[in-house]
Amino acid sequence: MTAKVAINGYGTIGKRVADAVRAQEDMEVVGVTKTRPTFEARMAVSKGFDLYAASKDNVAGFKGAGIEVSGTLEDLLGEADIIVDGTPKGSGYRAQYEEAGIKAIWQGGEKHELTGLSFNSQVNFEAALGAAYLRVPSCNTTGLIRTLYPLQVAFGMKEILAVMVRRAADPWDTRRGPINAIEPVLTMPSHHGPDVQSVLPDLDIQTIAVKVPTTIMHLHTVTARMKREVTVEEVLDVWRRTPRIRLVKGAEGVKSTAQVMELARDLARPRSDLFEIVVWEEGVNVKDRSLYYFQAVHQEADVVPENVDAIRAMMTLEEDKRESIRKTDLSLGIPPAF
Ligand code: NAP
Repeated sequence: MTAKVAINGYGTIGKRVADAVRAQEDMEVVGVTKTRPTFEARMAVSKGFDLYAASKDNVAGFKGAGIEVSGTLEDLLGEADIIVDGTPKGSGYRAQYEEAGIKAIWQGGEKHELTGLSFNSQVNFEAALGAAYLRVPSCNTTGLIRTLYPLQVAFGMKEILAVMVRRAADPWDTRRGPINAIEPVLTMPSHHGPDVQSVLPDLDIQTIAVKVPTTIMHLHTVTARMKREVTVEEVLDVWRRTPRIRLVKGAEGVKSTAQVMELARDLARPRSDLFEIVVWEEGVNVKDRSLYYFQAVHQEADVVPENVDAIRAMMTLEEDKRESIRKTDLSLGIPPAF
């Protein structure tokens, strides 16, 4: 069976998910939507995606710009088995998807309560089998779960504190800031801790967030009290056997997020996307049962493989999570961990 996948909201996440879905043998993209006739709409058409207007009101704009659309979202919903919603948070499409009887995946801007199921490929693939609706949590949340979950399984942890140094805006986005300030999130915990717990309810985690003037990555510093004695080598060994984690070394010149993204450019993937969470080997330290590490998250990319696995689970194209992860990672050029 091939799943027919629609993408509503062809932006930062939507266009990446569209390309990733197209790279799968068991899925096809039946159409993508835009509200405005932007360069991204033209790119979608030139890449061979069927373009749909998000609503009837948008059709004239496309006509005026000489961009042909195949219909509206309503028409697209009739073509698809499942839709990936990459629209800005709170766009409010759930009723329309329900009416069309279509399965749907939302992104991390939405609250857990929208679907009652927040997804991570490693943690709860099985819970997503056949599900009608789910949400892939945010880039930061996905990043924390990727490294913390395997440690929780291997060693047990309590009292985790993650401090997130967050990028101010995506590289294309000239609307947001700050451009010359450091802005703490004054609510404690930041929304990330409860968000991690929407997938891992038993994890004892607190989070603090700070926004800084960069567009390329988030950087997390994580401290965790381990339930038993561990060594740095044991921790690294767990991560080496965990998919979608990339270990890097400061000694090899990866001193900052700038070199991480240079490495990503050298990998020569589309858009220089780094789907893996990056952990600095020398930054991993253990002292008196406390583990300390730094990790970096390419915010535009890390949730993409999770979206692909979520489609596979919801459409029951694959029931074995390891097999789904293997297929997704092979198609995206992510090195295998098992
Ligand atoms: P984005 O780059 O702004 O893309 C959103 C897209 O939706 C745009 O193409 C926008 O363009 C389109 N759109 C706007 N209103 C729409 C509507 N009513 N109906 C259909 N399409 C509409 O946003 P994003 O960063 O991809 O964020 C999407 C979701 O992913 C959010 O929940 C966000 O929190 C989450 N997320 C974002 C990141 C990140 O770092 N960017 C990471 C992880 C998760 P047009 O109006 O031109 O069509």
